[in-house]
Amino acid sequence: SKPPVKVTVTGAAGQIGYALLFRIASGQMLGPDTPVTLSLLEITPALKAAEGTAMELDDCAFPLLSGIEITDNATAAFDGTSIALLVGARPRGPGMERGDLLAANGGIFKPQGQAINAGAADDIKVLVVGNPANTNSLIARSHAPDVPADRFSAMMRLDHNRALSQVAKKLGVSVADVTNMTVWGNHSATQYPDLFNARVGGRSVAEQVEQEWLESTLIPTVAKRGAAIIDARGASSAASAANAAIDHIHTWVHGTPEGDWTTAGVVSDGSYGVPEGLMSGFPVTAENGQWKIVQGLDINEFSRGRIDKSVAELVDERDAITGLGLI
Ligand code: NDP
Repeated sequence: SKPPVKVTVTGAAGQIGYALLFRIASGQMLGPDTPVTLSLLEITPALKAAEGTAMELDDCAFPLLSGIEITDNATAAFDGTSIALLVGARPRGPGMERGDLLAANGGIFKPQGQAINAGAADDIKVLVVGNPANTNSLIARSHAPDVPADRFSAMMRLDHNRALSQVAKKLGVSVADVTNMTVWGNHSATQYPDLFNARVGGRSVAEQVEQEWLESTLIPTVAKRGAAIIDARGASSAASAANAAIDHIHTWVHGTPEGDWTTAGVVSDGSYGVPEGLMSGFPVTAENGQWKIVQGLDINEFSRGRIDKSVAELVDERDAITGLGLI
């Protein structure tokens, strides 16, 4: 049988970690033939809680789970790792300015980038989930100069899945019938789900819905879904965020279906006018473990304006972390 793949999860004792680890260990992320070793990275006060989660993982007797390591040391956590899911981040506290938030996250993602650079496996793939995910991913990437830039990514897949689901409901079709969806830009309120290029039954979704619904219902519903879930559940989304992380890595490793694409936050090569180096949501295919930005899509005036607005926010965040000396 295959040798185990080391998977590192940071913030492992948090809510998303709790929803994520059992699915990784059961084979839903890397497939039913790939054993995994889990490495759980936590801050020192959360190590005990991480040990509790590890006890439950043991109690599942997952045949594919070949070992669990728990540590508060980033160098150890990323040593030899092939998949890194960076979930732990500093949440925005009351009265916290954006600069404070970015500085606090710089203190987390810079050393993690350095540890990945120093010790990760040659086939390392990094997904940043912890917010602000795109910019945290940029910070980590900047401190891993020996790792190819395209091995770093940021999670846009939950936004993508939310958009698929809303469109399927609206048109009365199955989510599997909605293809070619893209959520452009930043994982934030400015993100732009593109229904012009999305398709159902071989036709553009935008042709099958009113512009009014697209602008006044779909876009805000997808952008504010996280807040709506907090309001309903009394806690932030965790299972759906974990599910999106599983989907993201599964697609990255196993590829996209012929004729379709997905959304991932990946390093811009300047495509679609997104400044080079930013971590932005793009339409991407995956083949042989590599993302490729889909080229040549038609971007109409409405889409252009929305994409530019979200990308401007990414530029602002990049300028802020540059000013703080974080990259
Ligand atoms: P969660 O597990 O709920 O969330 C973790 C991160 O994921 C947050 O930054 C959160 O952003 C983000 N996130 C991204 N998408 C979503 C989504 N759709 N819904 C909800 N969150 C999303 O946080 P917990 O507080 O439960 O757990 C965090 C853990 O991380 C703690 O155990 C803490 O100790 C640990 N931690 C570990 C670090 C490390 O390993 N070095 C560093 C910092 C923290 P948002 O805040 O915007 O909701």
